[in-house]
Order: sequence, then structure tokens, then C-alpha cells
Amino acid sequence: MGSSCDELNWDIKECPSPTYGLGYDDGTWETLGGSSTVPGSMDRWVEVNDIMLRLGLPIFIEGDLSKVEWGRFLRDVGGLVKAVVRDGYNPFEDMGNVVKRMGGGKKTNLASTFQVLYVGLTPTGPGSVLKTVAPALFGLLSSMEMLGSQRDEGGRKIHGVHYVEGGFGTIVDGIVNLLLSRGVLFRPGVKVSKIEPRKDGGRGAEVDGEAFDAVVCNVDVAGALENRLVRTRENTRRQNEEGIVMSPSVLQFHWILEGEEAKRKLRAHNVFLSDDEVGSWDAVRAGDKSVSRNLQNSGLRPPPFNFYVHNPGCGDDTACVGGGTVLMALIPIACGTKVTEEEVNKWEGWVKERVERRTGPIRVIYSKCTTPEGWEDKYGLKGGAVFGASHGLLQLGPTRQGCEVEGLRGAFWVGASKRPGNGVPLVMIGAEKTAREVMKFLDRS
Ligand SMILES: Cc1cc2nc3c(=O)[nH]c(=O)nc-3n(C[C@H](O)[C@H](O)[C@H](O)COP(=O)(O)OP(=O)(O)OC[C@H]3O[C@@H](n4cnc5c(N)ncnc54)[C@H](O)[C@@H]3O)c2cc1C
Repeated sequence: MGSSCDELNWDIKECPSPTYGLGYDDGTWETLGGSSTVPGSMDRWVEVNDIMLRLGLPIFIEGDLSKVEWGRFLRDVGGLVKAVVRDGYNPFEDMGNVVKRMGGGKKTNLASTFQVLYVGLTPTGPGSVLKTVAPALFGLLSSMEMLGSQRDEGGRKIHGVHYVEGGFGTIVDGIVNLLLSRGVLFRPGVKVSKIEPRKDGGRGAEVDGEAFDAVVCNVDVAGALENRLVRTRENTRRQNEEGIVMSPSVLQFHWILEGEEAKRKLRAHNVFLSDDEVGSWDAVRAGDKSVSRNLQNSGLRPPPFNFYVHNPGCGDDTACVGGGTVLMALIPIACGTKVTEEEVNKWEGWVKERVERRTGPIRVIYSKCTTPEGWEDKYGLKGGAVFGASHGLLQLGPTRQGCEVEGLRGAFWVGASKRPGNGVPLVMIGAEKTAREVMKFLDRS
């Protein structure tokens, strides 16, 4: 948008090294990422994923061939062929199988695959790469995070984990202020209930009865179609078929802790991994019934599960002004799961117990939980699917929702469930594409 980080007031810094703390079931603790070297047993896996990232980013994600550096491209294709022949790497196979073939032991494999949670998939187990299991090509997420802050040959930073000082709200504030300065009008707090064809036959669409030359919908695609927020002239292809496969939801806990012990003992990003490579993803796969069954059967014993903990005070002092520690835990659970208050308390206890294996006893002085229903109510996300439409091969690249709302000319999608996909960087790339399509539409019509 022709602005700079300074102008936007964004102080973007690299995450203190090592980036990740990994807590295993047996109580052991390892660190990974940043300037620490990748364990030898992960070398081949990280190497091929690094190649996939360089090949995939400009071509398949950004769709911009001008960003391809062709000399490097040819070397990378050579490297990929070598990995296929030498290591049996297959980008379209179940990631769990491939990493077992190429990686080291169980712990290494767990550490090399948990990142697929970010795209709403599981690394292995029942299901298929067409819908819910991650194909090995998503290993590029781990190489992006585990390799230190390198730049590609065009000088772009494509590796490493970064943060903006002051928290993510700073990003939003920067964009809002920039747009205000460019004359954009906001109507905050207004909930849209319908987007439909214009009654006067003019170009564009109507939002709650008000006509616009073009309309961009940021409400998630599945929720917007299902709730008839977006009213197309005819049923869209996706509505007619079996619908969009959603990613999991998460239980989210925000904690404020007394003292700074936890802040010191945890890294900025922490993943607690269960020994049970397949069963630990059951909560994500199972849906409503088996999560409750699991909870009932397990009695006081927790089911195997993996979770993530963010410790923003590691690096960013503005996160814990006045002392103490703030933590945010994400526990992946199936989209649409109904969680009772009693279950929330059980999950919280289980998470706390696993965190304490690393930190020693912690005292939570403030706790707030968001459940799948909470995500749905607040953001219109179907079943609380915080990562939008899942990224199985049937909803990836050309098979994912495009910019235009089918059956409603002049209306466009933006956000996690359209191409190229979810997460802030991909949503931004997708937003740029939508903006171009809107401009083309306005020029044409
Ligand atoms: C806990 C959590 C942690 C995450 N961590 C990361 C991370 O570290 N890195 C990363 O890249 N991604 C992360 N993500 C994912 C990332 O936040 C999403 O993929 C991204 O924000 C999706 O963008 P979006 O534009 O589709 O939706 P949103 O950012 O949700 O924007 C949609 C907007 O539409 C508004 N809206 C909904 N319904 C209506 C209505 N009827 N009328 C008017 N407005 C409406 C909502 O209020 C919302 O502001 C995380 C997500 C969660 C939940």
C-alpha cells in the first residue's frame, strides 16, 4: 500500500533464539529453531522442504512468475528430484509416512510435523490427503520456522519466526490508521446480515439494502453461505455438493500468572507433544461424540493430546508490563465440538499440569477461555473452525474457492477460506488478488 513499517508503527523483530520449546510426554524438554542448528536426523527433511518453499511460494502461493529466480529454480528442481529418488520423498503422500522414511526417531518426527495444525490438517492417521491429512508438501511450514532468518536470492526474508512489538493489534492499528489517512470510511461494530443482488439492476451488490459498485465479503465462506448471509442467484456448486471441509477448532486459554518463572522457563513458542503420534490427534478428528466419550472414559486421566503455548513476554517486554507472565494456550479440537464448562475446567487442568512439568508450579490469577461456539458467535466461523476451510488436496490451489462469489456478480471473497489459504500472510496475498479482481471488474463494467 505504498507505506513503510515505520509509518505503520510496526517494529518487527526476530523471535529470540531458540524459537521453540518442545515438551514431550516423558517430561523431557528440547529447543529448536532460530540460530540453533537443526538436529542431524532432520537434515534431509528440512532440506527438501526448504526447496519446496522456494519452488512453491512464488509459483503456487503468490502465483507470480516474476518472483521466480530461474537459475535457483533449476537447481531446486534438481534437488527435489534427488530427494524423490534418494529418500523416497513424495509431496502428495501422507506426511507422517514420509517423515518416518526420511527423519529420525519418534520425537524428531513429532517436532517435524506439528506445524500442519496451522493449516487445519493432521500429520497422519485415519483420513486421506484429499481432505484431512496433510500431504508431505506442507513440510515447508516446518522449514520456514526452523531455519534461522535467511533471505532468498531476491533479498526477501522467507524463513524465521518474527513478532511485532506490542502484539498483533499493532498490525491492525497500523492498517486502520493508514486507510483512514487515505480516506477509507469504516463503520465499526456494524454486523452485516445479507449481501445480495442489487434490486435496481446496477453493477455490484447490495449490503443490507444499501447498493455498492462492488462488495468484498470477509465473513468466512462456509458460514456466509450456510447462514445465507451471502445470497447468490443460484445455489453455488459448493453448496450443492457435500460442502466445504472445515479445519479443526481450538480451545483457547488466556492466562495471567503470578511471577516470572514461567516466562523465563518457556520459549516464546512452545509445543507440548504427546507420545501417541496417532491418538493424540483424535480430539481433532473425532468430532463431538468421541471427544466427550474420550473425556468420560479417561475419568481423571487426560486423553493424549498436543497443544501450543505462546509466551509473548519472551522477547516483547510490552506483553507483561508490571510483572508476571502472560500465556496463551491453544488446544486443537474438532470443529463443531460442544464443550461444557466442566470439560473446559478439565482441559485447563490437563494443560496446566503439562506446562508445570517444565515450569514448576504456576499460579493462574486470571483465566479466560474461548470455545468453538465462542469463535463461531464472535467471528461467524462455521463450527468455530479458526483456520477456515481445511487445506486437503481437494481444497488447495485451483480447487480452493476463488475471488468471485459464484452466482452473485460484483461480490468477491477475501479471507482464510479462499485461495491461497489461511494464516495472516496467505490471507494478505489473497487480499491483494481480490483487490486486483475488483479493480478489473470496475474497469470492465
Ligand atoms: C488463536 C489463533 C491464533 C492464530 N495464530 C496465527 C499466527 O500466529 N500466524 C498466522 O499467520 N495466523 C494465525 N492464525 C490464523 C489467522 O488469524 C487467520 O487465518 C486469519 O485472521 C483469517 O483472516 P480472515 O480475514 O479470513 O478472517 P478474520 O481475521 O477473522 O476477519 C474476518 C472479520 O469479519 C468480521 N465479521 C464476521 N462476521 C461479520 C458480519 N456478519 N458482519 C460484519 N463483520 C463480520 C469478524 O469480526 C472479523 O473481524 C491464528 C488464529 C487463531 C484463532
